[in-house]
Amino acid sequence: TRFVSGRTSATNAEAFERALAVSPGGVNSPVRAFGSVGGTPRFLASGRGPYVTDIEGTQYVDLVGQWGPALLGHAHPDVIAAAHAAVDHGLGFGAVSTGEVDLAELVLDRLTLTAPDGTERRGIEKLRLTSTGTEATMTAIRLARGATGRPLLVKFAGHYHGHSDSLLSEAGSGIATLGIPGSAGITPETAAQTIVIPYNDEAALAEVFARHGDRIAAVITEAAAANMGVVPPKPGFNRLLADTAHAHGALLISDEVMTGFRATAAGWWGLEEREGAPYDADLTTFGKIIGGGLPLAGLGGRAEVLDLLAPLGPVYQAGTLSGNPVAVATGAAMLAGAGPAVYERLMIAARKIADGLSAALAAEGVVHTVAWAGSQFSIFFRETAPQNYAEAQDQESWRYPAFFHGMLDHGVSLPPSVYEAWFVSAAHDDAAIARVLDAARPAARAAASA
Ligand code: PMP
Repeated sequence: TRFVSGRTSATNAEAFERALAVSPGGVNSPVRAFGSVGGTPRFLASGRGPYVTDIEGTQYVDLVGQWGPALLGHAHPDVIAAAHAAVDHGLGFGAVSTGEVDLAELVLDRLTLTAPDGTERRGIEKLRLTSTGTEATMTAIRLARGATGRPLLVKFAGHYHGHSDSLLSEAGSGIATLGIPGSAGITPETAAQTIVIPYNDEAALAEVFARHGDRIAAVITEAAAANMGVVPPKPGFNRLLADTAHAHGALLISDEVMTGFRATAAGWWGLEEREGAPYDADLTTFGKIIGGGLPLAGLGGRAEVLDLLAPLGPVYQAGTLSGNPVAVATGAAMLAGAGPAVYERLMIAARKIADGLSAALAAEGVVHTVAWAGSQFSIFFRETAPQNYAEAQDQESWRYPAFFHGMLDHGVSLPPSVYEAWFVSAAHDDAAIARVLDAARPAARAAASA
């Protein structure tokens, strides 16, 4: 390989030293840093199926899964082939291309559900593609404000919706890992427009609407929270959000960047299982899986709301790279491959891994629980599954670094934070699962003596 800088790295440590010299913290996204677990991040050179390999040639079973997109495993042949085919036609045009329409049709189709009585329900009617989940949620908020003419946004503590100014108050993911309330650089005026309330708390929801109901543009929620570890909504909570918002003329934004096309086969967390009936989100955001691993995300909703976006309406949003032809091709290949068998394999793999890890931790007497949202799960070092951010933080989190490194030393790559969900793929076969469970015993022992 020829490097432009002329420098090469033989080890992770060497690479990290170079990275630290040229980028803040040596990373381009804080969740990749090993800040809360210690040690040197692994510089990954390749991925295939359930495995990733670092520049030293060490292979790991991967439970990070690109933080969501790797639903079919790494470098799935169909997805790679779609990328190659698209690349050969050019990397982007900044003009309309049919791949964007194909992907939107595919997403809309997949979110059209037929009830037992034959009636069709379209989850979303239109979709605007962006490059990142952050843009999708940022635009959803602007759209909600534009549609209602109201200023305030309600979000839940511990939910993460990307890093736009309005959404970093008491956010999950990296903000939770760093243990900070929010970000510097956001004006008090902006912060004051976001009201943060506890998750799964009906009384707090009622109170915020009683006090500010006529000034609230939207409630934004992760369809099932997964950025403080996995914390599913109480049964009926999403429906309550929709009903409460609508009773006050506000919108519900359901953030499915993480859960979409992963947590349930329909792509909609709990649509049937948890809510008993569909709940009406006005805007739904997607990302990760719909891009097949390349930078692509989007926001969808009813046509009358989406059509408020430019060029039809007064709410402006744009993107040089939006609907990139390579990304829409990989996204379409990913969705085409994500059939019922994939979701079945995902669920089975997740169950086997979680059960095995749980057994290993139990054998060592480590207090823990596994929390689930569809096939998405995470482990908390506490007795019971938390219902909100305060409970998620109330755990023996100091055990995680030892557990994490125990797994890593035995060839399993976990998210480097106790506040993240774990991602399995349909490629996690029995051989990969066996390796995870082999690593679980020494890792559990390390956690026990932490
Ligand atoms: N919403 C949710 C629920 C997410 O989990 C994330 C990222 N993990 C985002 C939004 C932001 O997406 P992106 O990182 O692509 O900006």
